Formats: sequence, structure tokens, C-alpha cells
Amino acid sequence: MTADTLQIDIQQTTTSRLQQVDFSNLVFGRDISDHMYIAEYRDGQWQNMRIVPYGDLALSPATAALHYGQAIFEGMKAYKNDSGEVLLFRAIDNWKRLNKSAERMCMPTIPEEVFMNGLTELIKLDAGWVPNTPGCSLYIRPYMFATDPYIGVKPSESYYFIIFTSPVGTYYAKPPRVKIETRYIRAAEGGVGGTKCAGNYGGSLYPAKLAQQEGYDQLIWTDAREHAYIEESGTMNIMFMMDGKLVTPAVSETTLDGITRRSIIAVAKHWGIEVEERRVTVKEVVEALKNGTLESAFGAGTAVVISPFATIAYEGVDYALPEVTDESFVTKVKNFVTDIRVGNTPDIFGWTLK
Ligand code: PMP
Repeated sequence: MTADTLQIDIQQTTTSRLQQVDFSNLVFGRDISDHMYIAEYRDGQWQNMRIVPYGDLALSPATAALHYGQAIFEGMKAYKNDSGEVLLFRAIDNWKRLNKSAERMCMPTIPEEVFMNGLTELIKLDAGWVPNTPGCSLYIRPYMFATDPYIGVKPSESYYFIIFTSPVGTYYAKPPRVKIETRYIRAAEGGVGGTKCAGNYGGSLYPAKLAQQEGYDQLIWTDAREHAYIEESGTMNIMFMMDGKLVTPAVSETTLDGITRRSIIAVAKHWGIEVEERRVTVKEVVEALKNGTLESAFGAGTAVVISPFATIAYEGVDYALPEVTDESFVTKVKNFVTDIRVGNTPDIFGWTLK
């Protein structure tokens, strides 16, 4: 792409909503920042890159994504350091994962510059929206969807790629109660579980609702064939501290290759903790819960960072997990990764971008 075609047109808002936001009481996903970045794919290329005030889109009722689900997204975060500089965490990894999802969903990939230039310009413009209170951050939502106004099942020829952002606080107020799901599935081999396509999330709402009616906050997904292997939890990867080792299901076609998960594994290895990425059976987890060798079980994802579980339920029995202390691996790794994200500790892994 030439410098010319990469040009981003910037139209700044004249009525910022920043002053209306209660930064001391941020609720996940409620407040959206002033601007959004839009790139359009047409005639085989990305074009018309622009930043405009956040607002409604005009779309044909025949918009392909609304009918056949060619829609993918990412979730990432920006933080403010003590000097007020904005830090992006592992943004390149999100760009790569978006393109992996795009390929699986027959959508065009996005050149690095179209993603990164738009992202950095947008964050510069809305830097005032990045919270600087502990536990808070700017959630960034890049997404792409098919825009052909055409009612026939085929890959769309036109797409929108959009990024908007939202200042957020912590996700779960208290450690969640989770249930091992043995009826419904999130993903199957050969399917799209390894991508961040919209349909994965739509399909997971009903089983999650049933679990909530039973008093649980979230599900632990198991494999589609036998419900014998642990896969993920809700919209997080799942990890266990067992016998002093960090154990987590290996990334596969049916699990998302989470960036938080990857970061935790890197830190654990750096600290000399043994890490096992492999198939994890429901049986071994339940055994460990019964005999008390499960030190902790937690979800890992951008939205939550790290979320230790209070309870795991299996076949109608609730198993309580030991309480997390300041000395627990979960606490230490959460603090360490957070410190890197907000620039409180040297970024030895090269994960952040100013
Ligand atoms: N699994 C699923 C299904 C998810 O939606 C997410 C959130 N993106 C994750 C795992 C965690 O991924 P990450 O750490 O990159 O946010």
C-alpha cells in the first residue's frame, strides 16, 4: 500500500462526552469514547481510512454479516503509566489473531499498517479516555464484518473494519462460581472455536443463561465428543495450579489462543515454574478438587485479566477452591502482568507499545 492510500482522514468531534463519564464508577462496556476508526474493504483493497465521531452506521438491511455471520472481533487494552503516557499491550498479537480469524471466515486480512496506524491515531485522539486508576483501563474493540447488501450465501466482497474504545473497570466483582458443562458445547474439531467469530459468542449465551439460573456465574467448556476434557471457561482460557505446576489445556482448533494465557505462561516459565500445556481431563481436575491438590483454578483473558474461581461445580456437586492469598501464584502473576501493562515494572518481554 502506498503512503497515499494509508492516509487517515480525521474528523474530530465538536461535542466531547468525556466530562459526562463517571471514572470512579466504570461499568464494563457502558461508556464509549468520542471517536471511532473505520476502514472499508472494496474492490480488493482497504481504503477510505478515517476517524470520525462515534455514532450510528447506516447499513442495508441485507448486510451480509447480519445474515450469515461473517463477523470477527478482537479485544485488547490500553493503560496509562504514572507519567500519563498511554501503553498498548501486545497489540500486534491481536492484529495477528484477527487475521487468523479472517482467514477461517473467508474474510480479507488487514495489513499491519491499516490496523496499527488506525489504532495508534485513535488512541492518541482519545487519550483522555484512558483511565489512570488501578484496575481500570481502556478496552479496545477492533472488529470486521461483511457489508455486501446481498442475500446469497457466499463470502462478501466488501467489509468494514472498525475500532472503538471504552474505559472500563474490573470485570467480576467477586471470584466467580463456575460449572463444568456436560451437555452443550462451544466448539468442535473442524469448527470455528479457535477464531473470535461473533457466532461463537451468540451460541454460548443460552448454556450460560441456564448455568446462571442454577446459581453459577460462568461455564467451563468441555470437548464436544466426550465432555471429558477441559477447554475454556466462558470467554477466558482456563489455567490450574496443581502440584506446584501451571497446567493449562493446549491451544487447539477448539480453543482460542489467548494473549493473556500466553503472557502468564511466559511469566511462569521466567519464574522457573513448570508449565504443562496439554489435554486436561475433567477427571483429574475433579480428583484434585476432592483431594485438595488443586491450589487454584482461574480464567485468563483481556477483559478479566485473571479471575480465580471460588467454586467449580461438576455433576451437581459444588467444590470450593482454597482462598487466594497474597502469596498465591494467581495474585503474583496478576500483579506482575498488570505492572508490565501499566509500566510499573520493566517490560522484559517487550510487550508494551507507547
Ligand atoms: N477464550 C475466548 C473464547 C475468548 O473470547 C477470550 C477473550 N478474547 C479468551 C479466551 C482470552 O483471550 P485474550 O487473553 O487474548 O483476551
